[in-house]
Amino acid sequence: MSETLPSATNLQQGARSRPCVCTVLIIGGGIAGLSAAVALSRVGVQCNVVEIADSPLGASLGISGRAAEALAELGVYDQCYATSTPFDRNTTATYIHDTEGRVISTGPKRPEWPGARTALGVYRPELLRILEETAKSLGVVIERGVTAEAIEDRDETSLVTFTDGRQRSFDFVIGADGIGSRTRSMIFPDAVKPAYSGQISIRWMVPGPEVAGEGWYFGPVGRLGFYHLPQDVIYVPAVITMPEFKRMSQEEVHALFAHLLDAFTAPAMVELRSRLTPDADLICRPFDWILLRDKWHRGRTLLIGDAAHATTAHMGMGGGMALEDAVVLAQCIAAAPTLAAAFDAFMTRRFERVRTVVETSVALSQLEQANAPPSENVKLLTSAFSTIAEPY
Ligand SMILES: Cc1cc2nc3c(=O)[nH]c(=O)nc-3n(C[C@H](O)[C@H](O)[C@H](O)COP(=O)(O)OP(=O)(O)OC[C@H]3O[C@@H](n4cnc5c(N)ncnc54)[C@H](O)[C@@H]3O)c2cc1C
Repeated sequence: MSETLPSATNLQQGARSRPCVCTVLIIGGGIAGLSAAVALSRVGVQCNVVEIADSPLGASLGISGRAAEALAELGVYDQCYATSTPFDRNTTATYIHDTEGRVISTGPKRPEWPGARTALGVYRPELLRILEETAKSLGVVIERGVTAEAIEDRDETSLVTFTDGRQRSFDFVIGADGIGSRTRSMIFPDAVKPAYSGQISIRWMVPGPEVAGEGWYFGPVGRLGFYHLPQDVIYVPAVITMPEFKRMSQEEVHALFAHLLDAFTAPAMVELRSRLTPDADLICRPFDWILLRDKWHRGRTLLIGDAAHATTAHMGMGGGMALEDAVVLAQCIAAAPTLAAAFDAFMTRRFERVRTVVETSVALSQLEQANAPPSENVKLLTSAFSTIAEPY
């Protein structure tokens, strides 16, 4: 059973009798967009979401630290807990092994505080399903296969032209369309572009029975880890240094992943290698990052989640920051007298926290590329975790 402690803060805390805005268009139905829809609906804003993709895809992700509390404030923590792997005190998912499978470290200590909720390993399509169903139950309208073509600010509204030719006014617009955000290009055409970190990730969801020896394994080609999900799959993420990013065919990704596994004699790695069939569904992505250092809003449009701040997965906190963005935005909208005041309050509460995650993650990637001893990574990670253990 999960904890039943009250959440650390409350979406309605300091709320005015009516929010300063009534309607919003959210562009992007990923973690940031759907959680913003849930949070804003709960403070009385009518939300419409447009999502370009037909159905959610993806592997697993860890929701840790205060982000687990954000799930509770959205009212979905218990549902997520029921279909996730809890990372409690007994977890071995943070253990670091050598090529032969010897434990060389138990990994960085994640911060704890009274009433902290257990971190979760959650299958991303399952998290998105829970958020989408909750949003719909709160009256959110979600449209797939369509998006915003243009946004034009009028006095008190934003006039949105959709890709199917419709036009409609909203009190404000949220760009939650990920690292490649088109909304970001629309409102900040001169913004910095995402930068490549020098590393790639390959993720694999392995069906079949459990394998003993959860945790991370460091080898000469790169590192990979694994943990089990209740959906009877094993989540295997890998990180490989590749100074110049080169887009690879599925066969090339497969060959690189096999080469990575072949460097290990640890029984768990040998077992995973035996399950790597030629048709294994491997998701390969460059670790790109971006941080908008000035405002994340222009006029009546605000960027949240990866659209404003995306990073490498070295802290496993990007999705968590998107969840926190959603909750804090709803609190600011509920409490502020005007939209401009809400956006300012949001930026003040979010920027330093998100900067810590982005800059630490990129620094961790650089340390890894320089072959620094794992203890240096652990030191940096532990320090950043203690910063973001503070309430959001
Ligand atoms: C390998 C890897 C591992 C990770 N592991 C973790 C982890 O363990 N824990 C963690 O917290 N984070 C993790 N992250 C980070 C996390 O995945 C992201 O931070 C998170 O997905 C950001 O959510 P988002 O909704 O802002 O963006 P996205 O997840 O990218 O969602 C954006 C959505 O917008 C849609 N969209 C795009 N363009 C448009 C458009 N023009 N119109 C309408 N819709 C559009 C997309 O289809 C998508 O559904 C990891 C990232 C990677 C790459």
